[in-house]
Amino acid sequence: MGNQATITAVQAILVDLPTIRAHQLAMATMQQQTLVIVRLQCSDGIEGIGEATTIGGLSYGDESPEGIKLTIDTYLAPALVGQDAANVHAAMARLNKVARGNRFAKSALETALLDAQGKRLGVPLATLLGGAVRDTLPVLWTLASGDTGRDIAEAEQLLEARRHNTFKLKIGRRAVRDDVAHVAAIKRALGDRARVTVDVNQAWNEAEAATGIAMLEAAGIDLIEQPTPREQRAALARLAARFIVPIMADEAVCGPEDAMELARIGGADVFALKIAKSGGIFGMLRTAAVGDAAGIALYGGTMLEGSVGTIAAAHGFCTLPQLAWGTELFGPLLLEDDVVATRPEYRDFALHLPQGPGLGLALDEDKLAHYRRKQG
Ligand SMILES: [Mg+2]
Repeated sequence: MGNQATITAVQAILVDLPTIRAHQLAMATMQQQTLVIVRLQCSDGIEGIGEATTIGGLSYGDESPEGIKLTIDTYLAPALVGQDAANVHAAMARLNKVARGNRFAKSALETALLDAQGKRLGVPLATLLGGAVRDTLPVLWTLASGDTGRDIAEAEQLLEARRHNTFKLKIGRRAVRDDVAHVAAIKRALGDRARVTVDVNQAWNEAEAATGIAMLEAAGIDLIEQPTPREQRAALARLAARFIVPIMADEAVCGPEDAMELARIGGADVFALKIAKSGGIFGMLRTAAVGDAAGIALYGGTMLEGSVGTIAAAHGFCTLPQLAWGTELFGPLLLEDDVVATRPEYRDFALHLPQGPGLGLALDEDKLAHYRRKQG
């Protein structure tokens, strides 16, 4: 193994960033976003960075930013210190022995290890994964102001600027009929110039879903994301069989085991992949492989990460053989400011992958100092 670099320190930093507007979801309204930024130091002087971020505290999943920091500080960082920094699989196997679950925390650490190794070898993270088959990713935008007129104006402006031509609507807060009226009005205004999809974030029961999806299908909506609760896989399968409009599993598909079960029962037409919910890029790739084997289309999802987490996911998504539904990697665009020196580039309806070693990003120390949560 020769000049072996070891991991010398791991830090988890809470960062609170302002968003450009309130972001309304079925389960929460976000006024800001909290990132957990990981800094992983190695004995050869190389630092890797990673990010774990979730949506609305604990309203999306079972890991919160504060919990992720505690898990890393108390359990995961001590298990990594002294280990071979260049062997990502061995380091992750050790973490999986020390802690069950905690996929978001593990994803951030895996990203930091891969970023460090990419910098060490002088290659982009996607190259470490075997190479990118695309260097740009289509990115949709979520219209989530809660106001129909304002959402239409926002979509028109983004089409004009050639930033997005697919729009996802977050629904499930209001009565089914009211939600459908909102979505149908937006689709009518945009017509064939844009694709419109919806994400219900598990808010409907099966009967509401059957009614809602029938109306959404008639209104020309292109994709229905996670209409029913994640545990109710049979309901998802019945809806997928009943309607022509594709049904996408998001909360219901975390890792390859979920993907396998959904594939077995015909539970979804599309899988939303996210590095955080799969415990890292490699877990996401294994999940994608099950989808490929089952003929299920793929979509690159987001936990509304900032630049670090978004670009980590982008490196992974760029290596996928098929990505029929593009991505929603717009997290950095929802933030008023970020903690990296150069923010990701979005133009011509796509995110452009940075070309430097590792993630291809550098932290902005002044911004990190400014936005990090002051311990009280
Ligand atoms: Mg979703």
